[in-house]
Amino acid sequence: MELWKLPAHSLHKLLVGGEVTAQEITSAFLQRLREVEPQLQAFITVTEELALEQAQEIDRRREKGEELPPLAGIPFALKDNISVRGIPTTCGSKMLENYIPVYDATIYKRLREAGSVLVGKTNMDEFAMGSSTEFSAFHVTRNPWNLERVPGGSSGGSAAAIAAGAANFALGTDTGGSIRQPAAFCGIVGIKPTYGRVSRYGVIPFASSLDQAGPMARTVTDAALVLNVISGHDQRDSTALKEPVPDYTSYLVPDVAGLKIGVPKEYFGEGIAPEVGAAIWEGIRLLEKLGARVEEFSLQTASHCLSAYYIIAPAEASSNLACYDGIRYGYRADVDDLLGMYTKSRRVLGSEVRRRIMLGTYALSAGYYDAYYHKAQQARTLIRQEFKEAFEKYDVLITPTTPNVAFALGAMVDDLLAMYLSDVCTLAANLAGLPAISLPCGFSQGMPIGMQILGKPFAEGKILQVAYTFEQETEYHKEFPPVSKGVM
Ligand code: GLN
Repeated sequence: MELWKLPAHSLHKLLVGGEVTAQEITSAFLQRLREVEPQLQAFITVTEELALEQAQEIDRRREKGEELPPLAGIPFALKDNISVRGIPTTCGSKMLENYIPVYDATIYKRLREAGSVLVGKTNMDEFAMGSSTEFSAFHVTRNPWNLERVPGGSSGGSAAAIAAGAANFALGTDTGGSIRQPAAFCGIVGIKPTYGRVSRYGVIPFASSLDQAGPMARTVTDAALVLNVISGHDQRDSTALKEPVPDYTSYLVPDVAGLKIGVPKEYFGEGIAPEVGAAIWEGIRLLEKLGARVEEFSLQTASHCLSAYYIIAPAEASSNLACYDGIRYGYRADVDDLLGMYTKSRRVLGSEVRRRIMLGTYALSAGYYDAYYHKAQQARTLIRQEFKEAFEKYDVLITPTTPNVAFALGAMVDDLLAMYLSDVCTLAANLAGLPAISLPCGFSQGMPIGMQILGKPFAEGKILQVAYTFEQETEYHKEFPPVSKGVM
């Protein structure tokens, strides 16, 4: 039996039934990790020793007859912008190459309390800015479906690791699509929760009004189990709202009868690959056959999301990243004069991060604030408003997660607009604070296609139910990537 192929809920049964030990489960994933990592390079740090220790502790608890929670003994990975005490947390940047947190992020702490086992920290675009993981300061991660293609980004390491079976589930962060887009590119499930659903204490910020952390997993059920653990208020993060956390697994029922699905036309127009659009429509038709009611409608603000995002996100980033000056935080250049030290230290940041800082400071500067930042915020209000109206008519909205399947490595590093456009379908959920899930719904050119389901704030349960219903009727999530070079 290949343990690394099993979903968390199956592993849990084997574990509590005494058929396998947590150490056997962890060893199986670590062995798989060692097998695929030379090709994929999904990790920045592998925490093998820690993982085995954590697994051993679960076995001890089981021997004592303790009842184990559903994710106990399940190996997971964390994007490298999520702090773990004593383990390097680089954020994909040379600026934080030597940073070792002195505290745990709340979401890591909660997973540890649930007994999950950390196998490593995954590669990402520097400070989560990017869509391909090629902007990592350390190395490029490859897509397990075709090693010549990108895994998506910025949580590309997490997505590649899960798709290849190097960990059972992972956490990513999503500011404009960084959980859902790599999940779509690697053929797994990714959830960006409602803004305020999940604590960000200990998660290194990119754009604070947009950032959310969330689960990446092979199945909807596993994603729901992870969401159960990480959701909810945190007294250390005032943006983590007090809204009660339901048991998300109670929504895992295959039923969409009477459900109203809205399909925004703008997400199927120019720029969307015909095979992608066709796969999503096929998925929508399947849900319709199962009893959902489907209606096309127009989301007129759709074309403004990209512009609004690329003002607001860099503006917030420029402020969040101001602390990396070599004095308060981060790498310090060895120079005698103060100004020289500031400028030389900042130069260790990669070109994309510097570009965003410049864009952001420009958009916030006195002469341009009204023309750019203020305008973008006004657009954001209209975007939110239009979604609010849409959710008065529909229970969920369905769109492609990305306009195309994973692109070739190197294809877009010099064409940033094309790179930015790969998030064109995911940005709205961040701007409007909505929950959204991406799940596998087809293949094109041998690469996975992702379907995005959006819900109103705190309707994670509803989108999980629709996703689960779809998953039960399809086989896409049962496929494993070859981890080899595909045909381009
Ligand atoms: N690709 C988008 C960007 O570069 C989104 C990144 C993210 O969600 N962290 O800003």
